[in-house]
Amino acid sequence: MSKQVDVVIIGAGFGGLYALHKIRQLGLKCQVLEAGDDIGGTWQWNSYPGARCDVESFQYSYSFDEDLEQEWEWRERYAAQPEILAYLRHVAQRYQLLRDVCCNSRVESAVYDEGASLWTVKTADQHYHCRFLVSAVGCLSTPNMPGIPGLDEFRGQLLHTGQWPREGVDLTGKRVGVIGTGSSGVQVISDIAGQVDQLYVFQRTPHWVAMAGNRPLGEDEKRTVKNNYRKMRAFMQQSLLGMNVAPGAKSALEVSDDERWQTYEKAWELGGPALLMSYNDLLVNMEANKTAAAFMKAKIREIVKDPAIAEALIPDEDTYPLGGRRMVQDDNYYATFNRDNVTLVDTLKHPITAITRRGINTGSGDYDLDVIIIATGFDAVTGTLKKIDIRGRDGLSIQDKWQEGPLTYLGVAMAGFPNLFMVTGPGSPSVLSNMVLSVEQHVDWIADAIAWMVRHGHVSMEASESAETNWADKVVEAARPTVLFNTRSWYHGSNIAGKPKRFLAYLGGVGPYRAECDAEQDAGYPGFQVN
Ligand code: NAP
Repeated sequence: MSKQVDVVIIGAGFGGLYALHKIRQLGLKCQVLEAGDDIGGTWQWNSYPGARCDVESFQYSYSFDEDLEQEWEWRERYAAQPEILAYLRHVAQRYQLLRDVCCNSRVESAVYDEGASLWTVKTADQHYHCRFLVSAVGCLSTPNMPGIPGLDEFRGQLLHTGQWPREGVDLTGKRVGVIGTGSSGVQVISDIAGQVDQLYVFQRTPHWVAMAGNRPLGEDEKRTVKNNYRKMRAFMQQSLLGMNVAPGAKSALEVSDDERWQTYEKAWELGGPALLMSYNDLLVNMEANKTAAAFMKAKIREIVKDPAIAEALIPDEDTYPLGGRRMVQDDNYYATFNRDNVTLVDTLKHPITAITRRGINTGSGDYDLDVIIIATGFDAVTGTLKKIDIRGRDGLSIQDKWQEGPLTYLGVAMAGFPNLFMVTGPGSPSVLSNMVLSVEQHVDWIADAIAWMVRHGHVSMEASESAETNWADKVVEAARPTVLFNTRSWYHGSNIAGKPKRFLAYLGGVGPYRAECDAEQDAGYPGFQVN
C-alpha cells in the first residue's frame, strides 16, 4: 500500500504530537508513524513501578496554548508516569491528533529520491511518499540489554524498565533482582522494596542520588504558577537547562565552610536540581564540586545505617564528580537499604558471571530469583535513528554518516539528508535540558523552516558540511570545561560497546542555543544549501 502525504513524522511522544499539531497548521498533510501500540513515547514504554519525571510537572508540560496550561491540573511536584501519559492523551484528544497517528507502525527505512525530491518511508505494510521527514524518535527509546551470558536461560520473568508490560506486573511476595542503579533502577528499587519478598540490588557503579522533594501540589501553589506562567516560561527559554532554576551567583569556594554547608542543607531539603545549582562553579571546578560531594557523602552515611553499605553506595568523586553523570533524584533511595529485605550486591567487587535458569550468579554467590529487572539504560540519542535504514542523497546511509559519532547542524539537520529534520537530535541541548521545552523550540523552528520553504517555492534544504563541522566543534567546546566531559556516561555513548565516543548534547545553555537557531533563521538559513 502506498500513500502520499506532505510530512511524515516518526514517533508519537511529546515531540511527534506537537510536531503534528504545529505543522498541520501550515495546511500540510501530516502522518505520524509510531512503533508502539499507543501514543506517549517514553511515557508509554517506561511504565515501570516508580517511574516519575525529574523535571517539575509545571515545567515539563507544553507551553504552546495558554488554555491548556490553565485547564490541566498537575497533582504532584514531579509527575508520575501515569499522570504524564494521561496528560498526553488529553492533548491528543483536545487537538484531535489521533486521526493522523498510525500506531503499530515501526519505520523500517526512509530513502531520499533526489530526482523527485521525495522521501519514501516504509513500515512493514505501508509506503509513504513525502516531501518532509521529521524524526521525533526520542533520545532514550532504544533499550540497552546487557551482554551478560545466559540472559535467555532464566526461567522466571525478565523485564527491562524501558519495555515494561502495559498490563503491569505483580511483584508482591517475589524474589526480585534489579541490575542497574541509574535513574530507572533507583526509582524502581525505591518503589518496590516494600512490596517484594526479597530485593537484590546488583550495583556496578553507584550513582549520586539527590532528594527530589516530591509532594502533592497545593491549590495556592497551582494558582500562583498559573498566574505567572508567561513570566516563568520566558525565563526558562533563556535559561541554562530550560528550567525555572539558575545557578547561584557565587563560587562554592568563596564562602565559609559553615555558610556552604547550610546552603547545601537547604538545597537538600528543597530537592531537585537545587543542590547542583547552589553555586556557579559546581559543574566546572573539581574543587568546588568536591565540596558538594562531601555533603552528599555525609548524607549517605547519615541515612544508611550499615557503614559498609553506605560506603558501597558512595561514588568515587574523582571518577564520578557530582553531575558528571545524570544526577538521580529520589526521596527514599538510600533509606531503602535499611530494610531487612533489601540486599546490595556490589558487582564491581564481584561481577555478575552469568544469568542461569534460577537467577543471577556473581563471584560472591548465587541468587535465586523469580523476577529480574534490567535497568541498564539506553542506546541514547542516536540508537533509535541508527536502527532505521535511512538513506539520503547518493544513497548515503545514516550508519555511514555517523560512523565516528553523530554529525549534525544544530542537532536539527544533516548534510546529505535534505528535508530531514530531527526534533532534539544529537548536538542539541536535548537530554541536558527540559525536554518538553526543547521539543517545542525545535518543532517551532522546523515548522518555520518548512513554512519558509513553501512560501519561497524551495524544493529542498540541507545543512552544509561546513556548518555541520563548525557546530560539532561548538558542541565539544561547550562540554569541555565541565565535569561532564571527562566522566564516563551515556552522554558520550560510553555505555554501549563499540559506540563511537562523542559528546551527544549541546551544553552551552538552552538560551544561547535558541539564539543560535534564531540567528540562523533570521539570516535566511546561511548554514543550509537551499534549492
Ligand atoms: P543509565 O543511567 O544508563 O544506568 C544504567 C545502569 O545500568 C547503570 O547503573 C549501569 O552501571 C548499569 N549497567 C549497564 N550495563 C550493565 C551491565 N552490563 N552489567 C551491570 N550493570 C550494567 O540508565 P537509566 O537508569 O535507564 O537512565 C537513563 C537516563 O534516562 C537517565 O540518565 C535520565 O536521563 C533518563 N531517565 C529519567 C528519569 C526521570 O526523569 N526521573 C527516570 C529514568 C530515566 P554502570 O554505571 O557501571 O555502567
